[in-house]
Amino acid sequence: MNNSVIIWIEENRQHLISLSDNVWSTPELGLLEEVSSKTLADALEKAGFTVERGVAKMPTAFIATYGSGKPVIGILGEYDALPGLSQDKVPYRKPLEKGAPGHGCGHNLLGVGALGACLAVKQEIESGNIKGTIRFYGTPAEEMFNAKGYMITNGLFDDVDIALTWHPASLNMVSYLTANAVNSVIFKFHGRTAHAAGDPHNGRSALDAVELMNVGCNYLREHMLPDCKLHYCILKGGVAPNIVPDEAEVWYFVRGINRKQAEDLYERVEKVAKGAALMTETEMEIDFLSSMYNTRYTKKIQEVLESKFKEVGVPLFDEEDKKFAEEIRKTFPEGSTEGLLRLVPQEFLPTAEKLIEQPLCDIILPPMGQGKSHGGSTDVGDVCYKVPTGEIITACSAIGNPGHSWQYVASSGMSIGHKGMLTAAKVLALTAIEFMQDSTAVEQAKKEFKEWTKGEQYKSPFPDDLIPPFRQYEK
Ligand SMILES: [Zn+2]
Repeated sequence: MNNSVIIWIEENRQHLISLSDNVWSTPELGLLEEVSSKTLADALEKAGFTVERGVAKMPTAFIATYGSGKPVIGILGEYDALPGLSQDKVPYRKPLEKGAPGHGCGHNLLGVGALGACLAVKQEIESGNIKGTIRFYGTPAEEMFNAKGYMITNGLFDDVDIALTWHPASLNMVSYLTANAVNSVIFKFHGRTAHAAGDPHNGRSALDAVELMNVGCNYLREHMLPDCKLHYCILKGGVAPNIVPDEAEVWYFVRGINRKQAEDLYERVEKVAKGAALMTETEMEIDFLSSMYNTRYTKKIQEVLESKFKEVGVPLFDEEDKKFAEEIRKTFPEGSTEGLLRLVPQEFLPTAEKLIEQPLCDIILPPMGQGKSHGGSTDVGDVCYKVPTGEIITACSAIGNPGHSWQYVASSGMSIGHKGMLTAAKVLALTAIEFMQDSTAVEQAKKEFKEWTKGEQYKSPFPDDLIPPFRQYEK
């Protein structure tokens, strides 16, 4: 094992923890991550990286590069928070500021773990031990918009040989689970107001259109492929019961296990929306927010990640961490650990059944999840289809911690999250270094990638004229 990387990360653990805590303490929503992106970009610049800020027309997107020549290894960082999840570092519900955002997906850890890996690799390049380019990708708005896809279409991934990333979780694993492809679209209906009791015949209700669209989509569910998913929320539905609503909006996520499935289903959803407009004599307008690829990892990279994970070992939690985890587990919904059991191979089931009784994960699980989806979506998918990509998850929370929850915010701001983050930084750094030292491994990953993409070039999944949806905040 490359001990100097491990030593460097250990010696700098306080620096990394305080960066992560700074991002945790200033939770910002996607595209608005001014303080968070600046915190990370400044730290990289101070360490000698060349930083380009505000790339791809997004003020909070940046790239930071160190070294030169091949291979170019890109490590993906995220730092956006989620709305309404403000939470203190305690194992019971206690918002720091009611209604404010919080790091309910642990992206404060994600960004700094990736940054720590880049800094450690930089030390090795500087000392002359390895040659190549290490690049941190500051990718905003993972929760709401395909910023990575936007960075790809702006050419920012064109020279990348290998991309690496990680995500905070409650387990340690090189996961093959996929994320779904998705289209995120707001359907806006425009009608005509009228007195709802006095002259309802003159009204054309935009809210009726939204409701009929939802009814249509709920019937459509029966005739979709089983892996597809539809969810919606009504953003606007009128102002008073005695006024026929002339404006109504509904926001849909349309998901499939790959782009084709998502696109096919989206076409059918669009037909339902048109039908709803026709029935209600309203106008329908489409506000296309985002679309993403499903994830698909390159096996060669997953294998290197797995071997480096085994060298580094699991995050070592102490008694206080365990006590915290035991407390916070009492607040989890019943059955929140069962998902794990559905995933594990038969031969591993007895170990997994014992594991989920524990508060924290103390083993590296075997790679699993091949051919299965975790249901959600991420713009890491677009990177997977642009360049060979690998990802690990590390234990940053109690086993069974539900995603996008206040419990996740709590763990991401304290020692459990910090330990998982430092483990991820080490594994990613060692993996990047391995690829810098072994050009055959890089070629293998690229060959495999070319085979499964069948040599097809990445094609942007969103309309050509799409711009980042800053308009979402203008309401
Ligand atoms: Zn996330």
